[in-house]
Amino acid sequence: MELWYTEQHTDDVRFSIKVDRELHSEQSKFQRIDILESKEFGKFFTLDGLMMVTEKDEFIYHDMIVHVPMATNPNIKKVLVIGAGDGGTVRELTRYKTIEKIDMVEIDERVVELCREYFPQTASQLDEERVNLFFEDGLKFVRNKENEYDLIIVDSTDPFGPGEGLFTKEFYGNCYKALTDDGILVNQHESPYYDYYARSMQSAHEKIVEFFPINRVYQAHIPTYPSGHWLFGFASKKYDPINDLNADAWNILGLKTKYYNTDLHVGCFALPNYVKELLGENIK
Ligand code: SAM
Repeated sequence: MELWYTEQHTDDVRFSIKVDRELHSEQSKFQRIDILESKEFGKFFTLDGLMMVTEKDEFIYHDMIVHVPMATNPNIKKVLVIGAGDGGTVRELTRYKTIEKIDMVEIDERVVELCREYFPQTASQLDEERVNLFFEDGLKFVRNKENEYDLIIVDSTDPFGPGEGLFTKEFYGNCYKALTDDGILVNQHESPYYDYYARSMQSAHEKIVEFFPINRVYQAHIPTYPSGHWLFGFASKKYDPINDLNADAWNILGLKTKYYNTDLHVGCFALPNYVKELLGENIK
């Protein structure tokens, strides 16, 4: 008998991975969590039937969500991470000795507990001394924060279910307020390729540009996400990700990365024409 994990990417497109075995399945207070094991991607987990992390390609997402802002402003000291229960984003952040504090706000404690058990590869630094874990809704957490963080990373699920509030105007406005004068907001920005995801991307982008003077979008190839073509948003009060990149300063740190490098840093902001069109005039 063959077991396959199948995710519906559109009404007419499905993506499947052959599964060796199911490791865990439960309905938490917030979402359904499934953990599976496969030959091609190693262990992976899904929330409400949508792919979150695989052992094989998580490095791409986590490199890109962390190293792009960190190389743009090497003086980042206080970081807020929203979502990110698997720990991969925190793992990459803790590699910077210059960061003083990392607050991580994850709504679902069960995701963190299960990732500690099944994904030590990503969860390895969650107990590091600079990391503070909060099990709350990120939307509420940022409401009363002002001028507190140099970087906010929104490593969330898609804009429905618990993640919905993290794609609202209220949330982006509060992130702006929670950031210092030279603060940066990076978010997972959905995919431009299939209509459904492209609409989420456009809607998030339209809201973010209302608050930040600098708004860019960058891309990465993530094989297990819908269409494989994924975007990140880079919104900033002061720093431009290309003009302010000091490649030598980042390279001198000697961080070994499997995906990110400072050439790619510049290249990933070069968007295909159809993506530029979808984003309209709102890239500045
Ligand atoms: N890399 C993943 C992706 O884009 O598919 C996302 C990884 S991470 C597992 C996303 C996390 O965001 C989940 O663990 C989920 O529980 C959390 N999350 C969703 N809504 C949230 C909210 N309102 N506040 C805080 N965390 C939230």
